[in-house]
Amino acid sequence: MHKIMIGPNKYIQGPEVIREAGAYIKLLGKKANLIGDKIVLPLLEQTLKEGLKKQNISTVVSIFRGECSNQEISRITGICREGKVDIVVGAGGGKTLDTAKAVGHYLKIPTVIIPTIAATDAPISSLAVIYGEDHSHQGYILLDKNPDLILVDTEIIANAPPRFFVSGMGDALATRFEAEACARSSGKNLPGGLPTLAAITLARLTYDILMEYGLEAKQAVEKKAVTPAVEKVVEANILLSGLGFESGGLAAAHAIQVGLTTAKEASKTYHGEKVAFGTLVQLIMEGRAMNETANVGKFCTAVGLPVTLSALGISTEEVSKIAEEAWKQNIMGNMPFPITPKLVSDCILVADSLGKSLMEGQ
Ligand SMILES: [Zn+2]
Repeated sequence: MHKIMIGPNKYIQGPEVIREAGAYIKLLGKKANLIGDKIVLPLLEQTLKEGLKKQNISTVVSIFRGECSNQEISRITGICREGKVDIVVGAGGGKTLDTAKAVGHYLKIPTVIIPTIAATDAPISSLAVIYGEDHSHQGYILLDKNPDLILVDTEIIANAPPRFFVSGMGDALATRFEAEACARSSGKNLPGGLPTLAAITLARLTYDILMEYGLEAKQAVEKKAVTPAVEKVVEANILLSGLGFESGGLAAAHAIQVGLTTAKEASKTYHGEKVAFGTLVQLIMEGRAMNETANVGKFCTAVGLPVTLSALGISTEEVSKIAEEAWKQNIMGNMPFPITPKLVSDCILVADSLGKSLMEGQ
């Protein structure tokens, strides 16, 4: 098997980047369809349209209806086709961005991604997660390529609710451990190859940035401030973790995240919050030294990521079902040793106990 690494064509990050969007987007086409929901559009529609107009790019707007479903993708694809649009611009959270990526994929036109929160590493990946209109998880579309341009305005990100930013750190926390598991097991990354040294190095750097700057950055976004620490953690949450997970590979932490989505109260917690807990479980499964696992747990409690089942709204009765579902995931096979549902369930319970003792020690 060969090593494969993929990534977006261009990534630009900084405060008020949105004001210069036109200069970058003009290289891609002449007519843009901006996709955003009713909360996001007021934050950037006017600035973006003015910038594009200065570059002789006309803009039509599609208001996103809230779900990255096949129906929504074909509705917006139809609007773009009719309007002879040659660039799609998605602005918002994961579902809006995945919809924009899928529309660009089907129309074979350039895709521009403007994340308004740093809650996951989805903005840069070549994957769109598809849901039903009833919000049930339906599967994935593997896109031909990663987005052409990603514009990350740190001013907008720092003004979003801090819980999104913290959740993004939870998603990024797993990247190093999952990439290392794949490297040890010769597990496949998302493009179906082995991880490169570059991907593993970026995954490790993600972790180091979180440990050094995560808490300070969280405190800054609580004040809506854009500091050097915020810039570093935004890059870790979106770019480093995005490249690290896609080309490094996923393993137990994300498999446990999928298991956790089957719990009754699952929709009350974010993706990255579940991944953070999944990371603790993976470390326990790996038999890492107690101080290493506890350090990750301490980081979670310091920034406000959940370390107990009750913080995730989950009862101990649900654990065996969660473990069974996690065990079934293909990515669990990227762990470098045999896994049983019992091992997963035992390690979930131990992670919960460790989490409780960390919370008591606070
Ligand atoms: Zn994730």
